[in-house]
Amino acid sequence: MKVIKDPVKIQAIVDRIRPVKKIGLIPTMGALHKGHISLIESAKKEAEFIIVSIFVNPIQFGPKEDYKNYPRKPGEDNKILEDLGVDILFSPFVIDLYPNPQTTFIHIPSLEKLLCGKVRNWHFKGVLTVVAKLFNITKPHFSYFGQKDYQQALMIRRMTNELNFDLKIRLSPTIREDDGLAVSSRNIYLSNEERKRANLLYLSLKEAEASLRKGEDPISTIEKQKLLIEKNGFILNYFEIVDPETLKPLDEVKDRALIAVSAKTGKTMLIDNLIYE
Ligand code: AMP
Repeated sequence: MKVIKDPVKIQAIVDRIRPVKKIGLIPTMGALHKGHISLIESAKKEAEFIIVSIFVNPIQFGPKEDYKNYPRKPGEDNKILEDLGVDILFSPFVIDLYPNPQTTFIHIPSLEKLLCGKVRNWHFKGVLTVVAKLFNITKPHFSYFGQKDYQQALMIRRMTNELNFDLKIRLSPTIREDDGLAVSSRNIYLSNEERKRANLLYLSLKEAEASLRKGEDPISTIEKQKLLIEKNGFILNYFEIVDPETLKPLDEVKDRALIAVSAKTGKTMLIDNLIYE
């Protein structure tokens, strides 16, 4: 596996590779876990040249967020990627991706202030901007994202289509611990006590799904789950049942809906979602 930090160097390599091999890109922030590994495994099924990027992107973090303390495990990550047979690890320094302060940003105004963007209204422009840079640097045919970050994947797909990036976005299912908790790099912040209760969000999504199936309306379904989550000591950010394309709240569920939750336990913000069909 080649480890590359310089965008120009990787562009020169992919210019040679792209005409002969399908390139798959998996963007990550590192501290790799089985969620990331599942994306790499999906990539290996259809792409012949696998690039994983590890970059903790400062412009998607707010001033009070965990950018400085975000888990970083370069040694362990390298070993995992070597063992998986990844071709290139692209792990730039901040100065490599942002040699000058970034002044060009990608926005999707209709989506960036909903769900996770309600309290983190800077976040998605940082994500879209860095992903656009990664696409232009690595020139993949396919790029892989997890359903755990559904809103992020939806916005990246929208950007890819509307800005004519020449690649396909693939969405992979959320990988969970045995008790249902969505695997996340941030789960290491959970204390033992918090970890024991952290699967409540998943259980609550499943309960909401069951209520909708029984014909209960979204508003009372949401109210019930909000109460349950708050009674268990979480600080709720949102619990919503929305249209999976517009992310707008649904008054009634006809065929598909996204049930999405975000709540804090201790210092850790957890997110999760289910697609109701
Ligand atoms: P991150 O390193 O947290 O930025 O995540 C990198 C990619 O891995 C994103 O596309 C995430 O949606 C995806 N991902 C993170 N956790 C999971 C999970 N538990 N299951 C599937 N994909 C995940």
